[in-house]
Amino acid sequence: AKMQGKDRYVVFSNEYKKRNNRYVKLERDLHYALEREQLELYYQPIYNLQTDEVTGFEALIRWNHPDYGLIKPTEFIPITEETGLIIPIGKWIMEEACSKLLILQEELNNNTLTISINVSPIQLLNPSIYDQIVDVIDQTGIRPELISLEITESVVIDEFKHSEALLERIKRLGMKIYVDDFGTGYSSLGYLYQLPLDLIKIDQSFVMMCNEDIKKKKMLKTILNLANEFKMEVIGEGVEKIEEFIELKTLGCKQIQGYYISKPKPINELKQMLAELKLK
Ligand code: C2E
Ligand code: CA
Ligand code: CA
Ligand code: CA
Repeated sequence: AKMQGKDRYVVFSNEYKKRNNRYVKLERDLHYALEREQLELYYQPIYNLQTDEVTGFEALIRWNHPDYGLIKPTEFIPITEETGLIIPIGKWIMEEACSKLLILQEELNNNTLTISINVSPIQLLNPSIYDQIVDVIDQTGIRPELISLEITESVVIDEFKHSEALLERIKRLGMKIYVDDFGTGYSSLGYLYQLPLDLIKIDQSFVMMCNEDIKKKKMLKTILNLANEFKMEVIGEGVEKIEEFIELKTLGCKQIQGYYISKPKPINELKQMLAELKLK
C-alpha cells in the first residue's frame, strides 16, 4: 500500500508539472520560435584596452516570447540542447551573426570588425557542424578570419579526441577558437597546449573586485602569463566597474567585455551606443 501511494504521488506530481510547468510550455513553443522570428541576437562589444577601440562583438541570443517577454539564453538554450533544436537554431545563429556583421561593417565603415559566436557542446558533437560552418561562410561571403567560435572549457576536455580533429579542421578554414568561461571548468590544463586555441576568455568570477581582492589579482596575473606563454590572446569578461577596467589594463590584459563598456544590444542600438562610447 505504501509503494502504491508513493507511485501515485509520482504520477500526480508529473502530471502536475506537465500542466503547469513553464519549462514544458517553453519546450513546446521553442519548436516555432525560429519560423515565427522570435529569436534575436544581441551584440556586446569587445573592447581593446591598448587602442581604446571596439574591435568586434559577441553575439548573444534572446527569445522574444509572446507571453513571457524577453527570455535569457540560460533558460532556453538547455531546452534547445535537450530537444535537439540547437542544431537548426545553432545554424541560424551562425547565419544571422555573420550576415549582421557584414551590415555592421558597412554601417560603421570598418571591415576589420569581428564576430564571436557561442557554440553549444551538442552542436560540436553533431556530425553536420563542419558542413554547416562551411555553408555559412559560402552563403554570407564573410571572411572566416573575422569569425570566432566560443566553446566552454568542459567541452574541450570531455570530448577531447573528437574535438581535436574538428577544431583543427575549423582552424584550417581560418576561423578562431576561443575558450569561454576559462577557470570555471576542470583543473587539468593539458588541453591548452594540445588543442588549437587562439584565445581564452577569463570568467567574470576572476574579474569581479579584482582591484581589491589580492588573490584574484594573482589569479589574473597567472592566467595572463599562461596565455602569453602559449601565444594565446585573452579577453577579460564581465567588467562592470572602472576599478576593474583600470586593474585589467594595468595587469596588461589587452581586451575586455562587460557592462562598463556596454551591455549586449540589439543591432539597431549599436550605432548609437558606439557613438556614445567616450572612453578615450
Ligand atoms: P557567456 O557566453 O559566458 O556570455 C556572457 C554572459 O554574461 C552574457 O549573458 C552577457 O550578457 C553577460 N555579461 C556581459 N557582460 C556582463 C557584465 O559586465 N556583468 C554581468 N553580470 N554579466 C555580463 P547572456 O547573454 O544571458 O548569456 C548567458 C549564456 O548563455 C552565455 O554565457 C552562453 O553560455 C549562453 N549563450 C548566449 N547566447 C548563446 C548562443 O547564441 N548560443 C549558445 N549555444 N549559447 C549562448
Ligand atoms: Ca561566450
Ligand atoms: Ca563567458
Ligand atoms: Ca558563462
